[in-house]
Amino acid sequence: MTKDLIKKFKEILKAKREQIVSQISKFAKKNQEGEYEVIHEEYGNSDEENSDEIEDEMQNKSLLDTLSSELQAIDKAIDRTESGSYGKCESCGGLIEENRLKFNPEATLCSSCQIKKEKDLI
Ligand SMILES: [Zn+2]
Repeated sequence: MTKDLIKKFKEILKAKREQIVSQISKFAKKNQEGEYEVIHEEYGNSDEENSDEIEDEMQNKSLLDTLSSELQAIDKAIDRTESGSYGKCESCGGLIEENRLKFNPEATLCSSCQIKKEKDLI
């Protein structure tokens, strides 16, 4: 992969990262350990409002899990653009298809290794 192309993907990754961070900051904030925590919102004191609070908090927690792991994957991908290993499949060492990276710039596996992995999981 050419340096220009890696640079391009790095920009895409950074933009994606910013998007996710701003999405997270709508319902979570960092605690002292630097980890994101869902902000607890008070809707009111009625039973209904209390159960809505809990329901939304649960939803936000699972959303936070999803977004945090995406963020980690993106951070690792950004590291790889800096170390020069970006675009290489972690499993077979081959090149990850450019089209695949366009859809999923944080991908760590080429298509065929990804398919193999998914088959193993099933
Ligand atoms: Zn592979």
